[in-house]
Amino acid sequence: MTAEGHDSAPADIELRVAALEKVMIEAGLVASDTIDAIVDTYENQVGPHLGAAAVARAWVDEDFRRRLLDDATTALAELGIGGVQGEVVVAVENTERVHNAVVCTLCSCYPWPVLGLPPAWYKSPPYRARMVREPRAVLAEMGLQLDPDVEIRVWDSTAEIRYLVVPRRPAGSEGMEEEDLAALVTRDSMIGTGEPRLPS
Ligand code: FE
Repeated sequence: MTAEGHDSAPADIELRVAALEKVMIEAGLVASDTIDAIVDTYENQVGPHLGAAAVARAWVDEDFRRRLLDDATTALAELGIGGVQGEVVVAVENTERVHNAVVCTLCSCYPWPVLGLPPAWYKSPPYRARMVREPRAVLAEMGLQLDPDVEIRVWDSTAEIRYLVVPRRPAGSEGMEEEDLAALVTRDSMIGTGEPRLPS
């Protein structure tokens, strides 16, 4: 485990980050433009639309689907998707009988290149603790009622491996174009705490 991956965050983390940034800029180690560019990248450019594009491709292209499930890191690279906090991505596919959901019990490991930055609830201690103990209850509270027959598999992310859930293609989406399908794929459906939107 790396310190970056699994130390708990101190309460004054934002002050510490600001102080570090100031020292590094003053020492000429980084330019403030560089930091602004990184923040902009993860706030505005990298986001769930990238994961959604990959899921939609898997829905329409059986060969890509196989490659994605076999080795997601390499398959995502075909779409130009990859980078820090996602050096190794594993895709797990929902089926009629199995529902996958992702958590990081130790901190907030999350597949940044496909989903962007994690939502606050993903990082919250209750989600991290309860998702492994009582996933069905947590999912129900989040609005996802699963049939009792459906097995729930919870994947615990680490600094080394990040997971991407491939949700089931919604009924009624037959014949839709890949781009329109991507618009149905929500962030939460790729974490496993929600389902894709239904076609309107
Ligand atoms: Fe983590």
